[in-house]
Amino acid sequence: MRLADTRPPFAGLANLSEAALAALPTPCYLLDEARLRRNGEILLGVQQRTGCKILLAQKAFSNYDLYPVLAPYLAGTEASGLYESRLGREELPEKENHVFCAAYRADQFEELLQYADHIVFNSPHQLAKFGPAAKAAGKSVGLRVNPEYSTQEGHEIYDPCAPGSRLGTTRAQWDAAAAQYPDLPDLLDGLHFHTLCEQDSDALAATLPALEAKFGDLLPRMKWLNFGGGHHITRPDYDLATLEKCITGTQEKYGVQVYLEPGEAWALNAGYLVTTVLDTLQNGETHLAILDMSAACHTPDVIEMPYRPPLLDAGEPGEKPCTFRLGGPTCLAGDVVGEYSFAAPLTEGDRLIFGDMAIYSTCKNNTFNGMPLPDIWVLHENGTTQPLARFGYHDFKYRLGSPR
Ligand SMILES: *Cc1c(COP(=O)(O)O)cnc(C)c1O
Repeated sequence: MRLADTRPPFAGLANLSEAALAALPTPCYLLDEARLRRNGEILLGVQQRTGCKILLAQKAFSNYDLYPVLAPYLAGTEASGLYESRLGREELPEKENHVFCAAYRADQFEELLQYADHIVFNSPHQLAKFGPAAKAAGKSVGLRVNPEYSTQEGHEIYDPCAPGSRLGTTRAQWDAAAAQYPDLPDLLDGLHFHTLCEQDSDALAATLPALEAKFGDLLPRMKWLNFGGGHHITRPDYDLATLEKCITGTQEKYGVQVYLEPGEAWALNAGYLVTTVLDTLQNGETHLAILDMSAACHTPDVIEMPYRPPLLDAGEPGEKPCTFRLGGPTCLAGDVVGEYSFAAPLTEGDRLIFGDMAIYSTCKNNTFNGMPLPDIWVLHENGTTQPLARFGYHDFKYRLGSPR
């Protein structure tokens, strides 16, 4: 039954026996070591062919038990702030440690200097405020710039180039600041931009000329240029040749070290969420199934992004004979994963497996409604499974008050 679904999110399940699947508690996230390694090999190939360095953006995937699997392939970690930077330093102490935050706090900056070696600022004011201390501590200092070139439509929450964006310094903001603080350019070792989301390399190729038009005059003085994340490099149809031309062309033209910091690409199609049908019901024409997982709690991007996650052996609504709307046990009317069709009607006790659940799921889950956090398991390359983290009542309670 499982092998009937050959879509990329499920390819790794060929490694999982029926017995090992049946032994998993539900709901549970199952992280796929073999697929992580395969993604790592693709990303290492890009680094070897171009000389670029690729970092893991931990906000997408920070299941540190599996960092040793990715370690041979990554140059370092990228953090969104103090805690992720500390996690990278603790778990991958030998690797580069980069951080970008839209605004650093004065009361945390000293501690951040213990973990990070590359510190990227969002505004000229933050650069002027913290840059000298970072330089004095021997750090490599960068500024996130906004090339004001949008390559995505519809997803405004993922577009840092949208009008009025708070992310990245525009050329006008830079010129105004450089007039006010003439020493500012001397603080900079590198520039950073992050403008893509789940995109192919054509979007990067279109962005680079826009970046050069705005900031090309600064690039010859830089040691590095960070192309940010959002590069869907490990997707099967991704255009690697165009990516590699963008990297080598930029490195040759400006003499910079290019960095990439994808999150998704490291863990794409490398995890599953296994869930059980608790009840089925019918309201008018609509067939419904209540699962033991919640979209709002366990896959919040389904609602926030929004998107419809791939489901093993299921089709689009109406594609197969029986269409069901799948939702969670919470009180939220909108706690719906989506509509899927099946060869036979769902019944209580059926197990369902959502794909591509290693990215942005374990990092973003929550215990709204007192929902338990799903346990996290690993599917090893030899087909065995093992629990990495188990959660219970106290993980719900102690986010809300003091342990007693
Ligand atoms: C989110 C983010 C990334 C990673 O993005 P992916 O879409 O997961 O590849 C990298 N850098 C920055 C600054 C980000 O905000």
